[in-house]
Amino acid sequence: VMRLKGKACVVTAAGQGIGAATARAFAREGATVWATDVDEGKLAALKGAEGIRTHKLDVLDKAAIAALAKQTGAVDVLFNCAGFVHHGAVLDATDDQWAFAFNLNVRSMFWTIQAFLPGMLEKGGGSIVNMSSAASSVKGAALRCIYGTTKAAVIGLTKSVAVDYVAKGVRCNAICPGTVQTPSLDERIASLGGGQDARKFFMQRQPTGRFGSAEEIAALAVYLASDEAAFTTGTVNVIDGGWSV
Ligand code: NAD
Repeated sequence: VMRLKGKACVVTAAGQGIGAATARAFAREGATVWATDVDEGKLAALKGAEGIRTHKLDVLDKAAIAALAKQTGAVDVLFNCAGFVHHGAVLDATDDQWAFAFNLNVRSMFWTIQAFLPGMLEKGGGSIVNMSSAASSVKGAALRCIYGTTKAAVIGLTKSVAVDYVAKGVRCNAICPGTVQTPSLDERIASLGGGQDARKFFMQRQPTGRFGSAEEIAALAVYLASDEAAFTTGTVNVIDGGWSV
């Protein structure tokens, strides 16, 4: 059975990592997917895949988000995946880094929800999935001050939308991964020197001795997007290989 048959889905940051894996998983389950990313080059690998339409979208651009919503018409699923990891403690963080991270990790979702929720309400339902992290209000993570603060805000936004629209058929849930093997994780390891110590900084957080895969996170996103999760809203879905236990 195709679990997302007939559903139109928008995915942000679908160029690589979890967003790309989720765009593919949504399409495999029969959805029509608008796979978007600020970097069109990264979308090239998805071009021509069955069920997937690629579209450049910078989630820092409010007008572009509104224009996309007009183009797609009402959709059933919005997966807000865009986010950026700032590295550092509170005394390492600058105002500019704070503003950039909040705009990319939180304000982007505020804007996409404002753009796509009205269509869901017209349709009588929908599912919004927001990418948070175990590094959030779930867990204090070393050197993730700005990042964890933004991802905690994503949980607050998720619960707010869930409570205000639950009676109108729109669900809103958050996903909180642990460390997931993605291109940007490799960049973070490289920026800490790339050696064994850099890898250990991330691996020591994962008691299973491995990182999660983008496909494992995509499987959870499929569930939350689908009607199987019809009774699930406002939830904080930790998928972290036991990091936060
Ligand atoms: P990634 O960081 O490897 O890729 C991010 C993608 O976002 C890129 O394709 C990039 O082009 C795109 N992007 C950057 N700025 C954008 C913008 N302004 N508008 C639209 N797209 C933009 O992907 P990932 O590691 O899978 O992370 C995806 C999400 O998952 C992020 O929100 C991240 O915080 C979250 N997350 C990741 C991990 C992990 O360990 N990888 C863990 C927990 C949460």
